[in-house]
Amino acid sequence: MTATCSTLTHLSCSRCGEAYDAEQLMNLCPACEKPLLARYDLAQAAKTLTRESLQGREPSLWRYEEVLPVRTRAAQLKLGEGWTPLVCARPLGDDIGCPETLIKDESLNPTGSFKARGLVMAVGRALELGAVELAISSAGNAAGAMSAYAAKAGMPAHVYMPEDVPAAFRVECSNLGAEVTLVDGLITDCGARVRKKVEECGWFDVSTLKEPYRIEGKKTMGYEVVEQLGWRMPDVMIYPTGGGTGLVGMWKAFDEMEALGLIGSERPRMVSVQSNGCAPMVRAFEQGEQFAEAWEGAQTVADGLRVPAAVGDFLILEAVRESGGAAIAVSDEEMLYSARQMGRHTGVFPAPEGAATLAGQKRLLESGWLQDDETVVLFNTGSGLKYAHLWS
Ligand SMILES: *Cc1c(COP(=O)(O)O)cnc(C)c1O
Repeated sequence: MTATCSTLTHLSCSRCGEAYDAEQLMNLCPACEKPLLARYDLAQAAKTLTRESLQGREPSLWRYEEVLPVRTRAAQLKLGEGWTPLVCARPLGDDIGCPETLIKDESLNPTGSFKARGLVMAVGRALELGAVELAISSAGNAAGAMSAYAAKAGMPAHVYMPEDVPAAFRVECSNLGAEVTLVDGLITDCGARVRKKVEECGWFDVSTLKEPYRIEGKKTMGYEVVEQLGWRMPDVMIYPTGGGTGLVGMWKAFDEMEALGLIGSERPRMVSVQSNGCAPMVRAFEQGEQFAEAWEGAQTVADGLRVPAAVGDFLILEAVRESGGAAIAVSDEEMLYSARQMGRHTGVFPAPEGAATLAGQKRLLESGWLQDDETVVLFNTGSGLKYAHLWS
C-alpha cells in the first residue's frame, strides 16, 4: 500500500494530555472521556509543506496531506472534498455596512455540506485501522456524509436519526446504501441506541468528537481560508456552532500553521453563532463557565445547531475566549430572512446554519463589536437545498 506524506505521530487527550498510540481505533480518552486530538511531527511536515509547494497541489483538502491523519492512498476516499470557494460578498457587505465580507461556501462539498471534510477523515482512518462497520447518530448532514464515504470505502453503515428528520436527509442516507433507523425521540436518544449497538455488535462510532479525526478534516477550512486570502488572516470568523468541530479544528490549525512557518502569531477573533432555541455555548460564554450545561428543550430549524450538549464544549469556549471572540444567539426567523438576503446578493443559497452567521454579523455590527472596515469570513456550512421545505 502506497503511503501518504502524513506526519501523524500520536493522539493526545484535549483535557488530561495523556498520549495514545494512533494506530488503534479509539473514541474518547479512556481516562477522562474527553476528545482526543491528533498530533504531528510538524518539523518534518515543514520541510515539504510550504507556501511555495502548495502552489502546485491538487485543489482539495488533500493538498495539506502532511498534517492529515490518513496514512495510505487507498484510504484517501476522494469524492472532491475541500478547497471550496471563498466568495467575495461585496454587494452583501455593502447592504449590511461591512464591505469586506467573504463567504466560505462549504455547500460545494460532496453531499452538500462541510461534514464531508470530517467524515472523509473519520471513515478513511476507520478503514485503515480495521473497523468493519460504522455507526452514527445524526439529525442531518453528518449522516449523509458518513453514508457517502462508507459507500466509497465499501463498508456497511448504520444511521440513527430522529423520526421527524426531513425526508432529504433520510433519503440521502438510504440511497447511499446506509441502513437507516428512525428513532422516536431526540438526537440524544439516537446516541444511546448507537452506544448499545456499538457494544453488542462491535460497530465503530463516528459521531461528533467521539473519534479523533473528524476535527482533522474540519481544520482544513482554517488552512484554506488563510491560503486563499494570500496568507493574510481575516479579522473575524463567524461559525455556526453545534458540536463545534470546525471552530475547534480551525483554532488548532492556526497553531499548526504557525509551527509550520506558514503564518505568524496573528489570529482572527472567533465568533460562535447558535440558535436562541439551543444556545448552550452562548449561555456558558456569558456566564464565564468553563463547561456548558445541557440545553433543555432544544428547538431550531437549523438541524446542525440542535446540539444540547457538546462533548468538546470546553474547547469551543477556550478558542472563542483566547481569540477575543464572541458567542451570540439568533432566532430562526433571522436565519430564514438572512438566507434570502445572502442568496439574492451573492448567488450562494445557504443552509439556515450558514445564514445564522450573517444574522450574527448584523447583530455584532449594530452593537459596535464589529467595525465596518473589518474583514469578515462567514461559513456557509451547507446547501439550502436539503432544507427547501423551510421556505415553501
Ligand atoms: C453539523 C453542522 C453544523 C455544526 O457544525 P459543528 O462542527 O458540529 O459545530 C453547522 N452547519 C451545518 C450545515 C451542519 O451540518
